[in-house]
Amino acid sequence: MIFKPEICAIPDKRMTPFIDVNEIWSHISETAKPEASKVREIISKSLNKERLTLHETATLINADTPELIEEIKQGARDLKKKVYGNRIVLFAPLYIGNECTNNCQYCGFRTSNKTAVRKTLTDEEMIHEIEALEDNGQKRLILVYGEHRRYNPEFIAHTVNIAYSVKKGNGEIRRVNINAAPLDIAGFRTVKEAGIGTYQIFQETYHPEAYSWYHLGGKKRDYNWRLTALDRAQEAGIDDVGIGTLFGLYDWRFEVMAMVRHTNHLEACYHVGPHTISFPRIQDAVMENIGLKYMVSNNDFSRLIAILRLAVPYTGLILTARENPVLRREVMEFGVSQIDGGTKLELGSYSESINEEQDLNREQFKINDSRSLNDIVNELIEDDFLPSFCTACYRKGRTGEHFMEFSVPGFIKRFCTPNAILTFAEYLEDYAPEETKKTGWESIEKNLTAIGDDKFITEIRDRINRIKNGERDLYF
Ligand code: SAM
Ligand code: SF4
Repeated sequence: MIFKPEICAIPDKRMTPFIDVNEIWSHISETAKPEASKVREIISKSLNKERLTLHETATLINADTPELIEEIKQGARDLKKKVYGNRIVLFAPLYIGNECTNNCQYCGFRTSNKTAVRKTLTDEEMIHEIEALEDNGQKRLILVYGEHRRYNPEFIAHTVNIAYSVKKGNGEIRRVNINAAPLDIAGFRTVKEAGIGTYQIFQETYHPEAYSWYHLGGKKRDYNWRLTALDRAQEAGIDDVGIGTLFGLYDWRFEVMAMVRHTNHLEACYHVGPHTISFPRIQDAVMENIGLKYMVSNNDFSRLIAILRLAVPYTGLILTARENPVLRREVMEFGVSQIDGGTKLELGSYSESINEEQDLNREQFKINDSRSLNDIVNELIEDDFLPSFCTACYRKGRTGEHFMEFSVPGFIKRFCTPNAILTFAEYLEDYAPEETKKTGWESIEKNLTAIGDDKFITEIRDRINRIKNGERDLYF
């Protein structure tokens, strides 16, 4: 598939801001009250594995009758089922430090919050946290940091190295992603050398004026520095990047369009779109100071996930424990590909037992899904999803894996499903209670059968037997 740069008001240039507010709003106003036939045409384009233009995305946003909304959601379900199958990748966030010199109005770590308990994990504390996460069965982490001179590229690289080095029993962390403040190109090079997976930065809101309402102090006030951060990451050789919007800060329709625009920009300049898109909604936090004007209802939230799925069909979608279990379960089928499980935000809380009740003074915001990783695994099995801890692609140098899954015929059958099965088998052997073992192995059998190629199934079974005999980290 060849990426075609979008024709837009601002020509795409590397390292140059690319959001044109008027352009986005004019797409939205020009596509008001779309014909049902037009909406259906766009849904089929997406099901034919083509990324949508801004105009087409705006058309889906404007399709707001109950019937058309349902058709869009069905399109997203079909795309998920037909193209991606039933795997869900699991990960956990690990907060490294909450010192912060910014003053983001929505965040409990903002510098003006004097009640926040500030902490940066020591090396030893980090090791304990990672051991505890490994004991739960985690293999993929995202390390999270405030924005502070302490958390410079060398420090981030150091923490990544620690995360990879901790091994407990059969436990190890095989992929470390990062969510941290924007760096300069040299800084991005430093963290790349530490072997990170995805570098994730959320723009929060892509609307420059709204951005200035909420970001009142510190380096984060500079909208363009943040907007072009992932350009600098690409210039430094990090081609695996994640984007996101904090929904609730501005009109969700604008933000969805802007994320598609960001995707187009990265494709036009670097020939690779973002690896993942995140769509957190604002949750309660100490001193959180955002009005209700742009709050996104559950209905609009599920709509926007379905629209994103169709608009950028080959980008991973991440849904976090900010959302409650019922809603998470419901929107998963619209094409979510990664979720966190067993999440704790309080610094040091994976290895301590102080987490009886959430203490907002120690957390960035309140989460609504505090179930254990195993509870989440049980629910996935029940809903016919295949839990995956796979980290094979980036370790095999197959970057842009979500794009490959999508566009390379047979990729999912050849790599993704078998690797999901093998990593899930490891989880069942090493960490699952008896009841999960039982349903988990049944699910593996079902997924093996669905592969349908006897010779290949035998090859996977052979690896499963090796796992049962104690070998680990077998992948295709
Ligand atoms: N300090 C870095 C930064 O701002 O880029 C790291 C990210 S911060 C620790 C992780 C993300 O959490 C932010 O980018 C923001 O989108 C999100 N966040 C902050 N406050 C939130 C809240 N009250 N509810 C939900 N998400 C929130
Ligand atoms: Fe600091 Fe990030 Fe919170 Fe803003 S969102 S106050 S930069 S930790």
